[in-house]
Amino acid sequence: MNSFSALHRIEILNHLKSKTFDLLVIGGGITGSGIALDAASRGLSVALIEKKDFAFGTSSRSTKLIHGGLRYLKQLEFGLVKEVGSERAVVHRLATHLVIPEKMLLPLSEGKSMGYWLTSIGLKIYDWLAGVKEEDRRRMLSRPQTLHAEPLLRKQGIKGGALYAEYRTDDARLTIEIIKTAVKFGASAINYVKGNGFLYDEKGLVNGVLAHDEIAGENISIRAKVVVNATGPWVDELRNANQSLSGKRLHLTKGIHVVIDRENFPVQQAVYFEVDDGRMIFAIPRGTKTYIGTTDTNYQESKDEVYATAEDVDYLLKAVNQNFDRVKLFRNHVESTWAGLRPLIHEDGKSTSELSRKDEIFQSNSGLISIAGGKLTGYRKMAERVVDMVVQDHFPDRQLNPCTTDKIFLSGNAFKNYKEVIRYRVGILKQLIPAGLRDQADYLVSTYGNQTDSILLQARQAGSISEESLLQSEMDFCINHEMALQPDDFLIRRTGWLFFNISKLKKVKPAVMEFYRSKFGWDEAKFEEMSLQLEQVVSNTIPDW
Ligand code: FAD
Repeated sequence: MNSFSALHRIEILNHLKSKTFDLLVIGGGITGSGIALDAASRGLSVALIEKKDFAFGTSSRSTKLIHGGLRYLKQLEFGLVKEVGSERAVVHRLATHLVIPEKMLLPLSEGKSMGYWLTSIGLKIYDWLAGVKEEDRRRMLSRPQTLHAEPLLRKQGIKGGALYAEYRTDDARLTIEIIKTAVKFGASAINYVKGNGFLYDEKGLVNGVLAHDEIAGENISIRAKVVVNATGPWVDELRNANQSLSGKRLHLTKGIHVVIDRENFPVQQAVYFEVDDGRMIFAIPRGTKTYIGTTDTNYQESKDEVYATAEDVDYLLKAVNQNFDRVKLFRNHVESTWAGLRPLIHEDGKSTSELSRKDEIFQSNSGLISIAGGKLTGYRKMAERVVDMVVQDHFPDRQLNPCTTDKIFLSGNAFKNYKEVIRYRVGILKQLIPAGLRDQADYLVSTYGNQTDSILLQARQAGSISEESLLQSEMDFCINHEMALQPDDFLIRRTGWLFFNISKLKKVKPAVMEFYRSKFGWDEAKFEEMSLQLEQVVSNTIPDW
């Protein structure tokens, strides 16, 4: 069904209940979304269910980089570096407004593990494996050049550095644009529907899912010829519901990030620096904020409630304070945090940082396909492998298109290159200046791409572009075209304000709650429930340590 509107929930559910799909994907993170797009664009009928909101899991809690994984080179994972490294340019082309080139500075200091020559050779291999264009290849820097690139770096011990090419994105937005594109190709996708168990045919093969509509509180059955479990950190739960777990299993580690106002940590460029324990940390400027991450600790608690602890936060603040001059960060500087789980594949005797970041496909005797591990960056190739397997095993005689996802621009991207994005942004800026909203241009274009046009058009139709009309129009767009069913869907995974604009979130919260109340006809009890839910999310993200 070709709608991705939260207002069409009942129609979408009825469609899911009434049809037998070729493929049903469980999990609306980047992995499941990528599989849905690949399969739908080849011509399969596809359904996708997500138990919370799309990108609720790790796909809204990563470092938000489309990167080749330089550190995997150290672990000699050449195949992984080659695949994800090469994918960077592809994903940039597919979502040019959302996957933005970002040069990364790698400072080299005395007493740290990375030497100048080894780094120079390593980065050369990195560029070569990933097929990086000549103008973007790594540049080794002298000490003065390194300190010029980032004057805040602790001067003591700096020997030089390297600048190399990566891309910055918004992981949740990328996930949502992939699902929207899948829906354009005919996929049916819905959030707040949980896969609880499986339906089987007389031979014991999976032919559907017993699901639960978390909003209406109803059980539903969805039939499909093939079911893929793409539930990231939850993969083993569903594998276990299908068949008792044996062989390889997941090993979850937690990684957190903190957001600091740029005034308190004014890095002028993204830095990837080594800390005393040998781990590597990112400090990445984004608009008026800088975010820092990440940690890597074993995790065995609730997968639905993953938050940063005071200890996690202190680790990152200490890392910054020790490696940057004139910066003294305390807990009260932290404006927001997020914490995500890496679904790694367990290997006996290996430490968390040694575990491979490669993806793994598990096939059960009952036909269930599960996929976990991997990177945001490699979502497209992971999807291609899974759908190749589905087509080969289940639809060998069907006339289907080959995989073309390397040519399918994601929704919001009408740009041939980044220069066109910049030109488009200038046009948007001109429309926003008279309303005193010039600071919104960059946010709108990097969030919605050319869909900004329809958001501004609607704001104008409400009278004129103003802060209020823009907010209303943005909410309308996210509800009607991005299935933002609840206020936190809008404030976290559609706009990113919980992480990068907490003051705006606090300011607009009452207006957002009222808008949702009138749009969905909530009674007082529902309004209270949703208000409490939002309060809870905010206070877990920014606890009063
Ligand atoms: P998820 O995003 O977790 O999606 C699984 C979804 O399944 C969830 O939304 C969940 O709610 C849903 N679900 C679970 N159970 C059910 C059920 N029963 N029914 C229906 N739905 C269900 N990669 C990069 O390329 N670049 C980075 O910068 C980067 N940084 C990272 C930093 C950290 C701290 C971490 C933890 C990971 C990072 N990664 C990065 C890796 C990347 O984020 C993950 O590989 C990727 O997001 C995993 O996506 P996924 O779809 O497999 O899982």
